[in-house]
Amino acid sequence: MADSNPTVFGKILRGEIDAPRVYEDEYCIAFKDLQPQAPVHLLVIPRLHLAGLNEADAGQEALLGHLLLVAAQVAKEAGLAAWRTVINTGAEAGQTVFHLHLHVIGGRTLSWPPG
Ligand code: AMP
Repeated sequence: MADSNPTVFGKILRGEIDAPRVYEDEYCIAFKDLQPQAPVHLLVIPRLHLAGLNEADAGQEALLGHLLLVAAQVAKEAGLAAWRTVINTGAEAGQTVFHLHLHVIGGRTLSWPPG
Protein backbone atom coordinates (compact mmCIF):
# COMPACT_ATOMS: atom_id res chain seq x y z
CA MET A 1 0.00 0.00 0.00
CA ALA A 2 1.29 3.46 -0.84
CA ASP A 3 2.47 5.56 2.09
CA SER A 4 -0.47 7.92 2.45
CA ASN A 5 0.71 9.17 5.84
CA PRO A 6 4.33 10.31 5.65
CA THR A 7 4.21 12.09 9.02
CA VAL A 8 6.15 10.88 12.04
CA PHE A 9 2.87 9.75 13.58
CA GLY A 10 2.16 7.65 10.49
CA LYS A 11 5.53 6.01 11.06
CA ILE A 12 4.63 5.38 14.71
CA LEU A 13 1.27 3.88 13.72
CA ARG A 14 2.99 1.56 11.25
CA GLY A 15 5.62 0.59 13.83
CA GLU A 16 8.46 2.09 11.79
CA ILE A 17 9.42 4.31 14.75
CA ASP A 18 9.14 3.34 18.40
CA ALA A 19 7.01 5.36 20.76
CA PRO A 20 6.09 4.18 24.26
CA ARG A 21 2.39 3.41 23.92
CA VAL A 22 0.16 3.80 26.96
CA TYR A 23 -3.12 2.92 25.23
CA GLU A 24 -4.44 1.58 21.95
CA ASP A 25 -7.70 0.41 20.45
CA GLU A 26 -9.12 0.05 16.96
CA TYR A 27 -9.59 3.81 16.56
CA CYS A 28 -6.59 5.44 18.20
CA ILE A 29 -3.34 5.09 20.08
CA ALA A 30 -1.79 7.14 22.90
CA PHE A 31 1.92 7.41 23.58
CA LYS A 32 4.47 9.53 25.43
CA ASP A 33 5.62 12.74 23.79
CA LEU A 34 9.28 12.67 22.75
CA GLN A 35 9.91 16.13 24.19
CA PRO A 36 7.65 16.32 27.24
CA GLN A 37 6.63 19.78 28.34
CA ALA A 38 5.51 18.57 31.76
CA PRO A 39 6.00 15.49 33.98
CA VAL A 40 3.12 13.88 32.06
CA HIS A 41 2.86 14.64 28.35
CA LEU A 42 0.91 12.18 26.26
CA LEU A 43 -0.40 12.32 22.70
CA VAL A 44 -3.63 10.72 21.56
CA ILE A 45 -3.88 10.20 17.81
CA PRO A 46 -6.51 8.60 15.59
CA ARG A 47 -5.44 5.74 13.36
CA LEU A 48 -7.24 7.63 10.58
CA HIS A 49 -4.94 10.19 9.00
CA LEU A 50 -6.53 13.60 9.35
CA ALA A 51 -3.99 16.39 8.94
CA GLY A 52 -5.67 18.38 11.68
CA LEU A 53 -8.94 19.38 13.25
CA ASN A 54 -9.70 21.57 10.24
CA GLU A 55 -9.92 18.40 8.11
CA ALA A 56 -12.48 16.72 10.34
CA ASP A 57 -16.13 16.74 9.36
CA ALA A 58 -19.42 15.38 10.68
CA GLY A 59 -18.33 11.90 9.62
CA GLN A 60 -15.66 12.02 12.33
CA GLU A 61 -17.96 13.21 15.12
CA ALA A 62 -17.89 9.92 17.00
CA LEU A 63 -14.14 9.57 16.49
CA LEU A 64 -13.49 13.04 17.90
CA GLY A 65 -15.61 12.26 20.95
CA HIS A 66 -13.75 9.00 21.41
CA LEU A 67 -10.38 10.78 21.32
CA LEU A 68 -11.51 13.10 24.11
CA LEU A 69 -12.68 10.21 26.26
CA VAL A 70 -9.40 8.37 25.69
CA ALA A 71 -7.52 11.56 26.60
CA ALA A 72 -9.37 11.68 29.92
CA GLN A 73 -8.77 7.96 30.50
CA VAL A 74 -5.01 8.09 29.91
CA ALA A 75 -4.75 11.26 32.02
CA LYS A 76 -6.46 9.53 34.93
CA GLU A 77 -4.39 6.38 34.44
CA ALA A 78 -1.28 8.57 34.59
CA GLY A 79 -2.45 9.71 38.01
CA LEU A 80 -3.54 13.19 37.01
CA ALA A 81 -6.42 14.94 38.76
CA ALA A 82 -5.92 18.07 36.66
CA TRP A 83 -4.52 18.34 33.17
CA ARG A 84 -4.65 20.33 29.97
CA THR A 85 -5.83 18.96 26.64
CA VAL A 86 -4.46 20.85 23.63
CA ILE A 87 -5.02 20.55 19.90
CA ASN A 88 -2.80 22.83 17.83
CA THR A 89 -4.34 23.52 14.42
CA GLY A 90 -2.09 25.09 11.81
CA ALA A 91 1.57 26.06 11.88
CA GLU A 92 0.89 29.52 13.35
CA ALA A 93 -0.83 27.84 16.28
CA GLY A 94 2.19 25.63 16.87
CA GLN A 95 1.22 22.53 14.91
CA THR A 96 4.35 20.77 13.71
CA VAL A 97 3.03 17.27 12.94
CA PHE A 98 0.21 17.19 10.42
CA HIS A 99 -1.64 14.22 11.80
CA LEU A 100 -4.38 15.21 14.23
CA HIS A 101 -3.29 14.77 17.84
CA LEU A 102 -4.45 15.71 21.30
CA HIS A 103 -1.82 16.68 23.83
CA VAL A 104 -2.51 15.63 27.42
CA ILE A 105 -0.27 17.67 29.68
CA GLY A 106 -0.11 17.64 33.46
CA GLY A 107 1.85 16.98 36.60
CA ARG A 108 2.81 20.60 37.18
CA THR A 109 1.02 23.92 37.55
CA LEU A 110 0.08 25.21 34.10
CA SER A 111 -0.21 28.91 33.43
CA TRP A 112 -2.82 30.64 31.31
CA PRO A 113 -2.95 32.10 28.70
CA PRO A 114 -0.61 29.83 26.73
CA GLY A 115 2.13 31.49 24.69
P1 AMP B 1 2.39 19.83 17.68
O1 AMP B 1 3.49 20.85 17.81
O2 AMP B 1 1.09 20.22 18.33
O3 AMP B 1 2.19 19.43 16.22
O4 AMP B 1 2.86 18.56 18.47
C1 AMP B 1 3.71 17.60 17.94
C2 AMP B 1 4.28 16.85 19.10
O5 AMP B 1 4.83 15.64 18.62
C3 AMP B 1 5.42 17.59 19.82
O6 AMP B 1 5.07 17.76 21.19
C4 AMP B 1 6.62 16.66 19.64
O7 AMP B 1 7.47 16.63 20.75
C5 AMP B 1 5.93 15.33 19.41
N1 AMP B 1 6.73 14.36 18.67
C6 AMP B 1 7.41 14.55 17.50
N2 AMP B 1 8.02 13.41 17.14
C7 AMP B 1 7.71 12.48 18.07
C8 AMP B 1 8.04 11.10 18.26
N3 AMP B 1 8.83 10.43 17.40
N4 AMP B 1 7.55 10.46 19.34
C9 AMP B 1 6.77 11.11 20.23
N5 AMP B 1 6.41 12.40 20.11
C10 AMP B 1 6.89 13.09 19.04
